[in-house]
Parts: sequence; C-alpha cells; structure tokens
Amino acid sequence: MSGTRYISMKYCEMSQAELALEMKHMTEEYNNWKSKGLKLDMSRGKPGKEQLALTQDMLGVISSPKDCITESGLDCRNYGLLDGIPEAKRIFSDILGIPTKNLIVAGNSSLNIMYDEMSRAMLFGVVGSERPWCREEKIKFLCPVPGYDRHFSICELMGIEMICVDMTPEGPDMDTVERLVSADPSIKGIWCVPKYSNPDGIVYSDETIRRFAALRTAAPDFRIFWDNAYVVHSFDGEPAEQLNLFHEAAKYGNQDKVLMFTSTSKISFPGSGLAVLAASDANIRRTCQSLSIQTIGYDKLNQMRHVKFFGSAEGIMDHMRKHAAIIKPKFEILFDALDSIAEYGITEWIRPKGGYFIGLNVPDGCASRVYQLMNEAGVTVTHAGATFPYGKDPRDRNLRLAPTFPSNEELTIASKILTVCVRLASVEKLLNLF
Ligand code: PLP
Repeated sequence: MSGTRYISMKYCEMSQAELALEMKHMTEEYNNWKSKGLKLDMSRGKPGKEQLALTQDMLGVISSPKDCITESGLDCRNYGLLDGIPEAKRIFSDILGIPTKNLIVAGNSSLNIMYDEMSRAMLFGVVGSERPWCREEKIKFLCPVPGYDRHFSICELMGIEMICVDMTPEGPDMDTVERLVSADPSIKGIWCVPKYSNPDGIVYSDETIRRFAALRTAAPDFRIFWDNAYVVHSFDGEPAEQLNLFHEAAKYGNQDKVLMFTSTSKISFPGSGLAVLAASDANIRRTCQSLSIQTIGYDKLNQMRHVKFFGSAEGIMDHMRKHAAIIKPKFEILFDALDSIAEYGITEWIRPKGGYFIGLNVPDGCASRVYQLMNEAGVTVTHAGATFPYGKDPRDRNLRLAPTFPSNEELTIASKILTVCVRLASVEKLLNLF
C-alpha cells in the first residue's frame, strides 16, 4: 500500500488491515495532542475579544443630559415608551424592511422575547386562539433539525411536544411541513432561523419563504417563530438577499401567523444589546397589552447608546463588515481543516457565508465519540445531540462547531484536533470498537 494511495482513500473502501493501520496512526496522533493538556473552547457562538472591542466606544456615547433626549423630546432617563424609542425603531425598520409601527424594540435578549411570546401563548393564547394553549389537550411544535438548542429548551420546559423536520439546503423540508400542519390542529407552530441558520448556515430559499407565507394550517392560531438572529451577519460578501416573509404572508392573509425576532447580540454586545419583535398590527397590539402589565419599559438608555453609536442601518452594515474581516479568517481555518479530511468520505457539511456556526455530520453513531475524544483532549465543543430536541440526535452524527471565540492560533490547533478525533472515531466505528 503506497502512502499516497493510502491518504487519498475513502474509509469505506479500506480493507481491515488498512483501517487498522489508520487507527494506529490516529491513536498516536491523538495521544500526542492529549498529552499537551490543552484547554480550548469551540462550543458557543460567542464573539471574540477583537469583535467586542469594535463596539467599546458605544459605552461612552452618552455623556450629558442632552444625549438622553429622543427626537420626540422624551427623556430616556425616565419612564415612558413601552415599545422602543423612535430612532431605534427606524434603524431596525430599515434592517428588517418592516414598518416601525410593527416593531417593538425590547431589552437585551431576543431569546427572552421568544420565551415571553411562547409563555403568553400558553397562558392567554394568541390572536385567533379559541383558548390558551395550555388548555389544549396537547400542543406540538415543528422543529427543523439540526437547530438551535435553546428554541428546543423552551418547548421542552413548557411541555410542548417537538416534531423533527429535516433541514435541506433550501430550508426546512416544506413537503413535510405542509403535510403535517395541514392535518394536525395540535401543531401550533414552528421554529425557523431563516438566514445563516444555526448550526448549518443555511439561507432559506425564496421558494421556501413563499411556501411559509402561503401555509395552510389546521390550527387557526399557528405561529411561525422566525428567529432572524443573523439577518446582517454575513462574513463573505454582502448579506444574502431574501424574500420578506412579513410582506409575503400578508399577501395570503397570513400576517398574524408570523412572529419575527432579531437582536444586536452579535452586532454590539451579547447580553447587552437590543432585541426586536416584528409582527402584524394585531399581534403587536396584543403583545403590548400584556407587556404594559409585565414591564414599565425596556432600557431606553441602551437603545439611545445604539442609536448614537451606529447612527443608521447603514452604520450597522459598515460595522458588520468589520466583524466579517475578523470572523472570515476564523471560519477559513476551520474550512481548511475540514477540507483536509474530505477525501476520507466521513464528513458532510455546508460551507456557510454567514452566521456563527458550522454543522458537521460525521458517520452515524460517531458524534458522541468525537465529542468525548475532543473533550478528553481539552477541546470543548457543543454537546453531541444538542442540535436536536431533547438533546437526542437519532443518528448520533451531528456536531455544532463555533469558530469565533478562540484566537486564530487556538482555533488552528482545535481544528487539527477535531480532524484527528473525527478520523479516529470513524475508524473505530468501522472496526466495530464501540
Ligand atoms: N437565536 C439564535 C438562532 C441564536 O443562535 C442565538 C444565539 O446564539 C440567539 C437567538 C440568542 O440571541 P439573544 O442573545 O438575542 O437572546
């Protein structure tokens, strides 16, 4: 067996002897990395320090009382304005292509407003509900997989049964979505991350969005939770153009079915940014009614900080180009590492152009083993299974990789270790060692 032939061979074409030799090489390499006692983290989609530094000056933009006064004359240091200051609404209106009257600029986390929308639906129902969702015998949600673990946690906590729907390179498998929602009135909604999805970085196609807009559902109070967390988060060229579900749905009289969310968590500061809800007139009215009881108002000074720092939607786009310049090389380090093992035929992934993640499929039954090997070698990745409801990946093959937080040097090492772990787990599997 020549060295050249050996390294260009798919694992599934290797003989037992060749696999055993590969196993020996990979074990040696793995033990070598393990002995270094590394501590690296590729687990959560967090901006790195360099990215956070881009927004540092925002903390100084309010220095005098006049900086606190909105264009409408309201003093942000005082009570008032439940749904956000007008100048912040205008920026998000331009970013989302949705009128300001259909927006609520909220607090520091979009996850929080998604949770609130779901809680309200459970407690009181939504526009069009016959009763609160918690009074229904059973509530189900469609969960495109792989997906965002925290969406699934909300459903799990509230006792909402989750039904997996496969993702395709165009978005969720719409044949399945249409079939299920048209037949079962207990399916009350679906989670979607339409642009640079978490974790695969998939951009839903216009056809997918049209089908969502026209969705006929057995439940009269069905809701599409459209989490546009990565709407401007391209790291390779300008953000992808996409049909606007808000306007498309209105063409079919489905405007109340759509609840849209976004935030500046990965534009300004995660945990200290601004979150936004966009929805139909009726949905906004209903949310504001309950919000007026829930809170005295959100942090308008933080809204003002964002307005003064970014100035406009274009200001945000310029800022995102600076993020892209930092993020792109990190993704490329991981792309290069994954490309270097493509020839073995053991990995599948989509090369994203935006967002914060890469979704990596390894051979069936191997994701938990890769996770374990990486952990033991000092590299933290998101728990295998996390991208599926209840933390259970039925094929145990999906891993979510987040390259933004480590330094480029750390990432280079972590990516190399990843490739060794994927090869080692795959060869172990083929040799029936676990
Ligand atoms: N939605 C998606 C799809 C995410 O990936 C994340 C963070 O990783 C969030 C929401 C969280 O957003 P926020 O910080 O605004 O709560």
